[in-house]
Amino acid sequence: MSGLIPPSLVILSGAGLSAESGVATFRGADGLWEGHRIEDVATPEAFKRQPELVHRFYNLRRAGLKTVEPNAAHHALVRLEREWPGAFVHITQNVDDLNERAGAMKLLHMHGELGKVRCVWCRVVLPWQDDLETTTPCPECGRTGKLRPDIVWFGEMPYYIDEIMRVLEKADVFLCIGTSGVVYPAAGFARLAADHGCQRLIEVNLESTGISNHFTERRHGPATVEVPKLVDELLADVACGKV
Ligand code: NAD
Repeated sequence: MSGLIPPSLVILSGAGLSAESGVATFRGADGLWEGHRIEDVATPEAFKRQPELVHRFYNLRRAGLKTVEPNAAHHALVRLEREWPGAFVHITQNVDDLNERAGAMKLLHMHGELGKVRCVWCRVVLPWQDDLETTTPCPECGRTGKLRPDIVWFGEMPYYIDEIMRVLEKADVFLCIGTSGVVYPAAGFARLAADHGCQRLIEVNLESTGISNHFTERRHGPATVEVPKLVDELLADVACGKV
C-alpha cells in the first residue's frame, strides 16, 4: 500500500445484504429459490422450455421490490462510498434495487437487474417496472416473445467482468457481505484479490462459508448490525492511515 495514494476498496455483496429487508436469499435450507429449483427458473434452457413460468417468477420478484426498503447495511455502505478517500467499487450479485435506492452510485450489477428487460432480437435494454409476458412487444423493434428479464442466468457470462478483474487486481481492502461463496466467478474474487496483493479481506456473514479461509477477518452476525459497525471502523482506520 502506498502512503500517497489512498487505499482502494472493493465490496462484493450477495443476497444476505438484502435478507433483512425481506428479500429471500437463494440458498435457503431447502436449497430452493422461493420454492423453485434453480434449473427451472434461472437458466436460458428453462426460459426456452417454460418462458411463462420464468416470466411469472421474475414478475413476482420485480413486484416484490415495491414492498421492501433498503436496510441499515445498504445505508452504511452508501456512507462508506461517500466518505472513502480512495477508489471505491461495489460489485453486487443482487438483482434488487435496494443499494441504489439507498443512494449508491458506484455500483456494478454483475448479475443484472430485476428493474430492466432486454430484447434478444434487437438487443435494447430498457428499464421495466411492470409484468412481462411472452406476448409483450418490444417497445424498440415491436417483436413479441423477444423480451427477457435482464438477469444473468446460470451458464451465462456475468456483466462487467473485465472491469471487475481490473478493480480486484488493485484492491487494498476487499469486503464481502452476505454471499454463500458457491456461485462462480464471484466466489473466486477474494482469492483473486489476495493473489494480487490485497492484504485486508473481510467477510461478513451469519456463518462460515466455503470461502471463509480466503479472508483475513471474519465477522459473524446479521448484516444490519455488522456492516454499520465495520463501516465506522474502516472510516476510522483509513483516517489515521491504518488501512
Ligand atoms: P445465497 O443465497 O447463496 O447466500 C446468501 C448468504 O448470505 C448465505 O451465506 C447466508 O448465510 C448469508 N446471509 C443470510 N442472511 C444474512 C444476513 N442477515 N446477514 C449476513 N449474511 C446473511 O446468495 P448469493 O451468494 O448472493 O448467491 C445467490 C444468487 O442468487 C446471486 O447470484 C443473485 O443474483 C441471486 N439472488 C439475488 C437476490 C437479491 O437480489 N436480493 C436474492 C436471492 C438470489
